[in-house]
Amino acid sequence: AVDRSPEIQEARLKLPILAEEQVIMEAINENPIVIICGETGSGKTTQVPQFLYEAGYASSGGAIGITEPRRVAAVSMSQRVAKEMNLSHRVVSYQIRYEGNVTDETRIKFMTDGVLLKEIQKDFLLSKYKVIIIDEAHERSMYTDILIGLLSRIVPLRQKKGLPLKLIIMSATLRVEDFTDNTRLFSVKPPVIQVDARQFPVTVHFNKKTPLDDYSGECFRKVCKIHRMLPAGGILVFLTGQAEVHSLCRRLRKAFPYQKNNTAGGEGDKEDSVEEIRKFKKSRKRRKVLALPKIDLNNYSVVPVDEGDEDRDIDSDDDAAGSDLDLDLGDGDSEEDEKSDSSLPLYVLPLYSLLAPEKQEKVFRAPPPGTRLCVVATNVAETSLTIPGIKYVVDCGKVKQRFYDRITGVSSFRVTWISQASANQRAGRAGRTEPGHCYRLYSSAVFMDFEKFSAPEITKRPVEDLILQMKALNIEKVINFPFPTPPPTEALAAAEELLIALGALKEPPVTGRLKQQLAAKLSCPISALGRVMATFPVAPRYAKMLALSRQHNCLPYSITIVSAMTVRELFEELDRPAVSEEEAAQLKGKRARFLQMQKVWAGQGPMQKLGDLMVMLGAVGACEYAGCTPRFCQESGLRHKAMLEVRRLRGQLTTAVNSVCTDAGLYVDPKMKPPTEAQVTYLRQIVLAGLGDHVARRVQAEELLDDKWKNAYKTALLEDPVFIHPSSVLFRELPEFVVYQEIVETTKLYMKGVSAVEPE
Ligand code: ADP
Ligand code: MG
Repeated sequence: AVDRSPEIQEARLKLPILAEEQVIMEAINENPIVIICGETGSGKTTQVPQFLYEAGYASSGGAIGITEPRRVAAVSMSQRVAKEMNLSHRVVSYQIRYEGNVTDETRIKFMTDGVLLKEIQKDFLLSKYKVIIIDEAHERSMYTDILIGLLSRIVPLRQKKGLPLKLIIMSATLRVEDFTDNTRLFSVKPPVIQVDARQFPVTVHFNKKTPLDDYSGECFRKVCKIHRMLPAGGILVFLTGQAEVHSLCRRLRKAFPYQKNNTAGGEGDKEDSVEEIRKFKKSRKRRKVLALPKIDLNNYSVVPVDEGDEDRDIDSDDDAAGSDLDLDLGDGDSEEDEKSDSSLPLYVLPLYSLLAPEKQEKVFRAPPPGTRLCVVATNVAETSLTIPGIKYVVDCGKVKQRFYDRITGVSSFRVTWISQASANQRAGRAGRTEPGHCYRLYSSAVFMDFEKFSAPEITKRPVEDLILQMKALNIEKVINFPFPTPPPTEALAAAEELLIALGALKEPPVTGRLKQQLAAKLSCPISALGRVMATFPVAPRYAKMLALSRQHNCLPYSITIVSAMTVRELFEELDRPAVSEEEAAQLKGKRARFLQMQKVWAGQGPMQKLGDLMVMLGAVGACEYAGCTPRFCQESGLRHKAMLEVRRLRGQLTTAVNSVCTDAGLYVDPKMKPPTEAQVTYLRQIVLAGLGDHVARRVQAEELLDDKWKNAYKTALLEDPVFIHPSSVLFRELPEFVVYQEIVETTKLYMKGVSAVEPE
């Protein structure tokens, strides 16, 4: 039996899913595969594992596994469930790529979907689990889709063995036809249980006009107005990226400072609160608090009925007389908004996936007395995490996504409109605890043009890592795999060709066009090298580099370079716009210092030819030498969190390499010496072997037909000129031949992670 605290018990009873426990458990007992749909916050992630545990699914050595597409959710949910069940982290544990707290006693295991895929490679039948829950299936992350395809085959195999495995797919939306109506996937249609959401009505307000680009400024003005004019209740703002989140947080904190007293204690200390309450009372007198209009409880309309909705916009110029939102919030007077007002403290918290876990946890706690909570978040708050006490949602309507060109692999980050489904999810966040309001910073006409749903990830990105994993599972004919939504055939063919070029798949026994046609049939078996590569938890190109690095004692260096290339954004973004002159000066100083450091890390003589990869190697070396302290990172323009990830990945890759070549005897040396000249030469060959199709040649003077080719490079795949990114240490050098880690499109096509090569 589970021994829960009375407070937890009470909170649980409020969750809609508790009423469905019996229905859910009966369905699971009687069916091998069950789909559960329920609005975000209904209790799926925290409660279903507990139902299963209490029903005995984790007894006699069995375990319950739950996959999450986001690391944040895996960690945070395992902690929450452990707390609710009053069990230790040894029993309710998590495993993400870099870390975990799983033990022999673990009975409930939260993990990222990629982790479970790796486990399937080691044990196809997943024998240690009695139940697998695939959570957040509506997100349609690539690994989630693949897991569902694999599990559709594993479940019947386990049945045959007389060791049944239950599969539960959980989704926040009702759109599950890709799973239910796909007979190649599930020949018997699995039952769908719908958990009725106890959702309070949310009134949606559209902007009359859609801001052209400054949606961040628009968010700021909207939050200011809500905070000044509307009754208590948390505000949740959706923005697109970490930098934006931070900059809005800074602006809001400046506008409505919340001063912690200088006492050493944390927020919400007793000493603070008296003062805070006094301040708050004072502030209440000064501001006009207007009651919100009565809301028609039957009118939870997130789809605009007509343009009239726009009249409810709080930015409306019209005299709102007669409108049922009887607020004269006036028009945005930004000068006034920027003035700092400490009588109205706003407790501003950022939330995004790269944020340190202890900072993420803060959003679940009550804000200090006398303050209003305002969470500025990226997409993570859309469905994975439910923040308590949110009454107002401010939705910029955008999301930042990485786009890939299917043929060339060129990627770009683009901020695009979200789907209608996402917009409605975001609005729903305002109605968890009481009726709420969602302010959309775009017009209803724009909303009507949104896509209905976002496309599954697997249809949008290169799939070579996925295909290598599948081939390692001996799935040779990838095209026959029961994908919930199959990736485009070109993407599959491009992946197969790259893997053949890397030697990970056995080459078809012909050459030329026919070979390409065969590759397009997608049926090449994995090679011995491919099997080795598949054991490394990095992209196939980088896995190839590791597999080649045994000679000349190069492994420690290639492991470090590969780790640094895999963990994105090692370096702090120093070109960001500053919010104040003070910050601008600070950034300028940091940039100057970073340029110096970059020169040092790039080394001397032949080392310099390794270019940005040498800079990464030098930066990691220097950082580890200094003990990887926050201070060193801060002073050197390195992202501390990224450096910690590099450290973990180095450890993990070192273990992986040791288990493949048992005589390597590698360890992670915090005082790694720089590579010798011979090693650098060899490293450059290794890099070329992994990035062989990423070679670019500087355009010669005689080819300069057009000014747009000045300082440009030509690649095999692209018609257009590409350039070395200004942040590269080789930006001024312009070597004749280079290899690049990736091409990113911003104002031009830029190569990042560049080193110089000499072609054979
Ligand atoms: P779902 O998976 O259906 O979206 P969850 O099980 O994640 O729902 O959440 C159920 C409830 O538990 C929510 O009201 C949420 O606020 C609460 N909750 C989740 N994690 C925490 C936490 N770390 N601290 C406090 N409350 C939490
Ligand atoms: Mg959930």
